[in-house]
Amino acid sequence: MYVEDIIKQIKVNYPDQREFHQAVQEVLISLAPAIAKHKKYQDYAILERMIIPDREIIFRVDWVNDRGEIQVNTGYRVEFNSAIGPYKGGLRFHPSVNIGIIKFLGFEQVLKNSLTTLSLGGGKGGSNFDPKGKSDAEVMRFCQAFMNELYRHIGAHTDVPAGDIGVGAREIGYLFGQYKKITNRFDGVLTGKGLNWGGSLARPEATGYGCVYFAQEMLKERGESLSGKTCTVSGSGNVAIYTIEKLYQLGAKPVTASDSKGMIYDENGIDLGLLKEIKEYKRESLEEYAKIKPKCKYIKISDYKEGTNAVWNIPCFAAFPSATENELNLCDAKNLLQNGCKCVSEGANMPSTLEAIDLFLKSKICYGPGKAANAGGVAVSGLEMAQNASMHSWDFESVDNHLRSIMENIFVKSSETAKEFGDPTNLVLGSNIAGFRKVADAMIEQGV
Ligand code: NDP
Repeated sequence: MYVEDIIKQIKVNYPDQREFHQAVQEVLISLAPAIAKHKKYQDYAILERMIIPDREIIFRVDWVNDRGEIQVNTGYRVEFNSAIGPYKGGLRFHPSVNIGIIKFLGFEQVLKNSLTTLSLGGGKGGSNFDPKGKSDAEVMRFCQAFMNELYRHIGAHTDVPAGDIGVGAREIGYLFGQYKKITNRFDGVLTGKGLNWGGSLARPEATGYGCVYFAQEMLKERGESLSGKTCTVSGSGNVAIYTIEKLYQLGAKPVTASDSKGMIYDENGIDLGLLKEIKEYKRESLEEYAKIKPKCKYIKISDYKEGTNAVWNIPCFAAFPSATENELNLCDAKNLLQNGCKCVSEGANMPSTLEAIDLFLKSKICYGPGKAANAGGVAVSGLEMAQNASMHSWDFESVDNHLRSIMENIFVKSSETAKEFGDPTNLVLGSNIAGFRKVADAMIEQGV
């Protein structure tokens, strides 16, 4: 009843924030057994306090485009919870960004960061600015204008943003440059920085590699592996590219990628070098990949069968949703299972709808929710902060080894918690409760 009341309250108080309702609902329903077991969480009004951010900062961002015209966007930084460390979470630049999206991402981030075992609170931010089609100079002017407000709220021990959709190395560079100009400080105030100025080796690879390590752990427990298996991946950005790279390193065959215009199915395996050239360096559409590789099948989004994502129609042993929220619905989940899929490991945040998650849990395949499976990115961001604080840089192998052991730990902790609550294969329940308990106990210990 307590949990249901809180979910109702969220829907009444914030009627337009659909993605936020969805994230809260998924988490709170799976927390119910822990709340029932430990009365203190209700006594201390932990859920009421955890669903409302510490603060929501919303600001106007004015900048000038290449034609000299004034442009106006909205900027957001939601500092959600700092019970176990400074706020930490990415910035997203995409036209779909609104306060509901940033709140869903920030809420997820609190529990995800707790799972990493590092001392990181949770936050998220971004803007409805669309970097697509903008010149480098326009992106730079936007980032500078965005930082002109953001700098007052962030700090190495306060709030440390990073990248997300639409925010990669280029944007982090412009943001950091402006922060430094305004404050005259060289602080570890952003992660995902360039290697020559405080960045960490293996940060670009971390989310994708970590997501594959997590799949490996889920499969290992059942005596299975990815070697020799066909895999499907959605997206073609940072997470998707390094998921594909790690899958190849482990002897698997990734056969798909997608973007906001369509998807490619390359039966012999995605050509990773070509994918990087088109998406990372030239920032073009995947249609260009298909032009160079005529044997590959390209399907435009407008030609997807209604209500489905064509990526999930391709038979695979393991699927890695790595594009965006709600890109895998009930129909897609049914298609995956009918085609023999045995493992879903989420690189994106909340890529599966609530109905799709229910089906995965009922089918008892290996299902790694994003909060656990994609925590490798923020974990290596935490390692970047540790390197900045000590003024040392670690080599690639050390960071990668740390990443692997953090992902193993997250799996073990989620799986043990799921067993403790009598639902051994349910890693949604396991990861949510494991992440929640650490934050909730810290809140109780720190007083009201
Ligand atoms: P990028 O911007 O690098 O790539 C995003 C990819 O998803 C692009 O291929 C983009 O297509 C595609 N995409 C975006 N929106 C849509 C849409 N509405 N429909 C179809 N395709 C879409 O972002 P990341 O790879 O960094 O992020 C991907 C996901 O992973 C997000 O959910 C993010 O929150 C999550 N994540 C990222 C982390 C990181 O370290 N970067 C850490 C943890 C989670 P196009 O090229 O056409 O724009």
